[in-house]
Amino acid sequence: MDEFKELSRGEQLRKALVYDRKNGYDRLLDGEYEAMEAYCTGYKQFLDAGKTERECVDRTIALAENAGFRPLVRGQQLKPGDKVYRVNRGKAIMLAVIGQESLSQGAHIGAAHIDSPRLDLKQNPLYEADELAFLKTHYYGGLRKYQWVTIPLELHGVVALKNGQVIRVSIGNGEGDPIFTIDDLLPHLGVEQSKKPLSEAIPAETLNILVGSRPLSDDEGKDRVKLHALELLNRKYGITEEDFISAELSAVPAFNARDIGFDRSLIGSYGHDDRVCAYACLAALLQVKEPQHTAVCMLADKEEIGSEGVTGMKSASFDTFMEDLCESQGVPLRVCYENSFCLSADVTAAYDPNFPDVYEKRNSAFVNYGMGLCKYTGARGKSGASDASAEVVARARRVLDEANVVWQMAELGKVDAGGGGTVAVFMAERDIDTLDAGVPVLSMHAPYETVGKLDCYMTFKGMKAIFESTK
Ligand code: MN
Ligand code: MN
Repeated sequence: MDEFKELSRGEQLRKALVYDRKNGYDRLLDGEYEAMEAYCTGYKQFLDAGKTERECVDRTIALAENAGFRPLVRGQQLKPGDKVYRVNRGKAIMLAVIGQESLSQGAHIGAAHIDSPRLDLKQNPLYEADELAFLKTHYYGGLRKYQWVTIPLELHGVVALKNGQVIRVSIGNGEGDPIFTIDDLLPHLGVEQSKKPLSEAIPAETLNILVGSRPLSDDEGKDRVKLHALELLNRKYGITEEDFISAELSAVPAFNARDIGFDRSLIGSYGHDDRVCAYACLAALLQVKEPQHTAVCMLADKEEIGSEGVTGMKSASFDTFMEDLCESQGVPLRVCYENSFCLSADVTAAYDPNFPDVYEKRNSAFVNYGMGLCKYTGARGKSGASDASAEVVARARRVLDEANVVWQMAELGKVDAGGGGTVAVFMAERDIDTLDAGVPVLSMHAPYETVGKLDCYMTFKGMKAIFESTK
């Protein structure tokens, strides 16, 4: 206090009244640097193991089972501290730790998504052109097509057979596996292409994946390279060309998560959006013991195409899961919802000094300034945003400050520069108070996205604080 008195009047006022933002590295508590590194090691393993939503679900089940979670059985009696989960069609997963208070007092929910932009194979993908074999793709999510050529690609997914068997496919991330790529013009012949806008330089129908060049030997027929590829697929997976019709195969970047920078303070990877928040929610929930309020982690699919479909956040599967929890306590679902609190944990854009024109610096999220809270997302006049109430933002401020979480206020970019949305609006529609919060990302939706380790850790810490908060 004496120190404060020695300051000039202006300095005193400045200290007392002005909102002062500090780099998170100047605000870490003792031992937090080590905790952050350990947390990020686990996160990088999660990224490498989960390159599709199905793989993220598998990894989540393994981690959850290891932490004592069991599949929810409809009608089962639940007591405080019980840990349950339910998988929705292999692509989304919901987990809960039952609280000491009745679900009529609401649940504390963290909702993130585990699907990421990628190139899906079409249902009739394989063809041969001039003795090269290719797979046709249809991009999934909002991606910049020019970023997906001439990079190494892996192939992940499933082939569902008519007999009910589902064959898992994963080519490219195993030891000694081949990988794939999409070719682009050489600069020597790219004169006309180079004059086109970025959005037109690489048409979607040229995103064809190169998968082979060696013709079947001892054969005089046509499409020998394609036939050779089919022979190899049949040998490895027992499938025929027609089986692609009921397959979900995705080309994803063949990069594993790596530290970036001389100081190793950043992580480069495919799929930070939104596995960085999904892992934060999950890791936080796995550490929750007997919370006052039931803590729920929702890892959704299909966010990148509007949260549609039976595995997206719009799906009633979440309501069914919550209703099953509520029914075990004789609580109406709607009563639970109206008292619940949700952080829609999704990434936001990090301010990029290389592209200052699209950001409004006073309201942007910065790398290493912690978990980014977004009162609203959307586009233009907040269209498509749930726009959390001031009271909801105040509640998050209080909980995060009490838990020493480094956080910042964030807005995607300049007004009218573009826009985006998250699952928040679909939680709010359920009558759940919802606020967007997550990790700032550089190069969002690129094959290789970058995040700060500090922000990853603080989002985990923030989620844990929300789960454990008493109000
Ligand atoms: Mn996202
Ligand atoms: Mn996204």
